[in-house]
Amino acid sequence: MLMTLWGSDIALDDTEGWQIVENHLLETARTFQTQAVTIKTNFRRFINDAELNRLVAAARDSYWHGFQHGIGIIGHGAPMAWKHGFSKLYIASSFTANDNVPCASHPDIDGNVRFTGTRVFHDQYEFDRQAKVDHICEYSGRTGRKFTLRVCWKTSGGKNCCRCEKCLRTMFELFAAGRDPRDFGFDYSNADLRKSKLNIFSKGLDYISIQGYWKPIKHELTHRPHALMPEQIKWIETCDFDKESKSRKMRAALFIHNLPARIRFKLLRIINK
Ligand SMILES: [Zn+2]
Repeated sequence: MLMTLWGSDIALDDTEGWQIVENHLLETARTFQTQAVTIKTNFRRFINDAELNRLVAAARDSYWHGFQHGIGIIGHGAPMAWKHGFSKLYIASSFTANDNVPCASHPDIDGNVRFTGTRVFHDQYEFDRQAKVDHICEYSGRTGRKFTLRVCWKTSGGKNCCRCEKCLRTMFELFAAGRDPRDFGFDYSNADLRKSKLNIFSKGLDYISIQGYWKPIKHELTHRPHALMPEQIKWIETCDFDKESKSRKMRAALFIHNLPARIRFKLLRIINK
């Protein structure tokens, strides 16, 4: 049984976006001949997020990412597990042990959650992101199945925007695996690829993203025999990710991004005039 929450990365008032997500879920369940369940939840709303962020500021992480989301998401599985008598609940991993990233969803936490005879598994922690993409591509190639990978959390429409860092990261990994991202639900344009460098760096890349994601992607794209390399993304071959993320333009973008929203909008209005 696949479980998806409305109220996690899709806001409760984004009805249109949720419709797309729900259709995608049902289509996936049909493809893999399994059941699907959706849960509408206010678990991100009923808490005072701003106050909790202030309380955990010393951890240099948000309350959602650093403390809430792992157990918060898993907890929704408890009634379903009890009702259907499930002995195992899987939550997909984000990182691997090598990444060494503090995160509220981690095998040391998730793996110790139990309820009503159900054990929780932090799934595929042993594989990095590129390896997961490779497995999906290998499976798709072997079975001839095409399906949408929904990765975007920036768009309000429930689709992959093809412009945010996470969308672009996945698209580049698919190119590295020798596949066209269009086969996996990334309906990108040439302009999206042309602007990829600017969009990847526009909000600044932290050390973890550079080391854990982008340097391996660069290596895979430039060293794999069957990797696809559209002309517009060839910038990656010579890109110095450390230097680029520290460049003045990127630092300025990051500085603006980190300003309080009220000041940021005023500043952007002046800059864009
Ligand atoms: Zn996106």
